[in-house]
Amino acid sequence: MSSAEALLSDVRARIARSAALAGRKADAVTLIAVSKTHPAEAITPLIAAGQRVFGENRVQEAEAKWPALREQTPDIRLHLVGQLQSNKADAAVALFDAIHSVDRLSLVTALTKAMERIGRRPDCFVQVNIGEEEQKGGCPIEALPALLAAARAAELPVVGLMCVPPADTEAAPYFALLAKLARDHGLAGLSMGMSGDYETAVMLGATHVRVGTALFGTRDG
Ligand SMILES: *Cc1c(COP(=O)(O)O)cnc(C)c1O
Repeated sequence: MSSAEALLSDVRARIARSAALAGRKADAVTLIAVSKTHPAEAITPLIAAGQRVFGENRVQEAEAKWPALREQTPDIRLHLVGQLQSNKADAAVALFDAIHSVDRLSLVTALTKAMERIGRRPDCFVQVNIGEEEQKGGCPIEALPALLAAARAAELPVVGLMCVPPADTEAAPYFALLAKLARDHGLAGLSMGMSGDYETAVMLGATHVRVGTALFGTRDG
């Protein structure tokens, strides 16, 4: 086995075990391999090992890396997991199959217009600032109902909620809260869990886990 294959099969096995512990099916969880900062040479072994869903956090970096990789493997699905500026909405809609960082009304408006212009409708997740942290992206919890109502009125294809819990604390309570908010709002998608806590996230209902370091190793920048 190549090391990419070994890492991928380990992460997949952990997802399957966590899902089983929670009485869930492993195929209810989409593994997003977060390849930000890693060059194409680091990505191709994972594609060869069968991984098809990837995540990036910057539109420009993704535009530089992915068109060529996708030409070779057309069934790749690309998820934007990082913050998005409204002036990059067109580029994001053109490139990504899902956008995990919808967190404000101006972005709902920009994405709705971009989808009309470009004729693609990527799945959208509303990012929630689940730990109510000052510097963190995401919609404040108390602003979520209004933002979701606006997104629905604009017919944005919102499929779920996303969060990044505070660093260096137990993530489980935040995952449980995000799951409750999604339930309350009738949303099936739950994008939560990174390399350090994706097993916990799967046990608490994650439908999408965003795993970088555990698949690619540590990032320089
Ligand atoms: C980088 C990133 C990840 C992956 O983090 P790892 O700890 O490397 O698994 C997941 N989600 C978001 C939003 C990220 O920016």
